[in-house]
Amino acid sequence: MQIDLTGKRALVTGSTRGIGRAIAGALASCGAAVAIVGRDKAKAESVAAEITGAKGFGCDVCVPAEIEQLVADVEAALGGIDILVNNAGITRDNLMLRMKDDDWDAVLDANLRSAFLMTRASCRGMMKRRFGRIINITSVVGLMGNKGQANYASSKAGLIGLTKSVAKELSSRNILCNAIAPGFIETDMTAAMTPEAREALITGIPLERLGQPEDVASAVVWLASDLAAYVTGQVIVIDGGLAT
Ligand code: NDP
Repeated sequence: MQIDLTGKRALVTGSTRGIGRAIAGALASCGAAVAIVGRDKAKAESVAAEITGAKGFGCDVCVPAEIEQLVADVEAALGGIDILVNNAGITRDNLMLRMKDDDWDAVLDANLRSAFLMTRASCRGMMKRRFGRIINITSVVGLMGNKGQANYASSKAGLIGLTKSVAKELSSRNILCNAIAPGFIETDMTAAMTPEAREALITGIPLERLGQPEDVASAVVWLASDLAAYVTGQVIVIDGGLAT
C-alpha cells in the first residue's frame, strides 16, 4: 500500500538535521509540502533546497513571538498546516543534585513549552478545516527516566501528558495527536558517546543496534496518513525493544 500525502502541508520543527531532517524528507517523498525549521534561517533554506516541495524558515522555538510569526509565515507560504511535527529538542545533562536552574529551564522550554506553543498556534487553522495531525517526538527516557537526565526525562514525560490532553480536546474537530518515543537513534545528539558506552548500550537493545532517523520517520508518515485515522492519544515506542 502506497502512502499518498499529496495536498497536505507539514511543519517539522528541528528539521535541519537528524531525526527531523529524515521526517521532513519522508513526508515530502509521499507528496507533502514541508516547512523546514531551525534556528538559522539560511541553514533551513539550504536543507529545504535539497527536498522537493520544501521551504526553509528560521525560528527559535524557545521564543514565543518567533513561534507566532513562524506559524503565520508557514500558513501564508504553504496555504495552511495540516501536519505538525514537534521534533525540536535539546539535552543539558547533569546529575539532578548538580543540575543548574538554567539547565532545567532551557530543556523544559525547548522540548515541552515549545510543543504547547506550536500546537496552540497551529491548531486554529486545523480546527477551521476540520483536519489535523499533531505528532510529538518524545523519548523512551520519558517513560523510563534516566540518570543525568532529570530535565530531559521530565520534558519528554510532559510531552506525553500534552499529547493525551490535546488528543482529547481536539478529537471532535478530527485533529489527531500522537507521540513517538524513540530509543537511541544515530544523530548528533548521540554522537558524543564513547565506543565503550555505545557497545554497553547495544547489549541492552534486543535488536542489537542503534536506530536510524528513518526508523522514526516511517512511523511519522504512518501517523500522518489515512492509515492511522483511528489512532489518537497514543505513544508509539521505536527503540529496538530497549524499553520492553
Ligand atoms: P539533533 O541534535 O540531531 O537535532 C536537533 C534539531 O532541533 C536540529 O534541527 C536543531 O536545529 C533543532 N533545534 C534545537 N533547538 C532548537 C530551537 N531552540 N529552536 C528551533 N530548533 C531547534 O537531535 P535529534 O535529531 O537526535 O533529535 C530530534 C528529536 O528527537 C529531539 O526532540 C530529541 O529529544 C528526540 N529524541 C532523540 C533521540 C536520539 O537518540 N537521537 C532519542 C529519543 C528522542 P538548529 O540547530 O538548526 O537550530
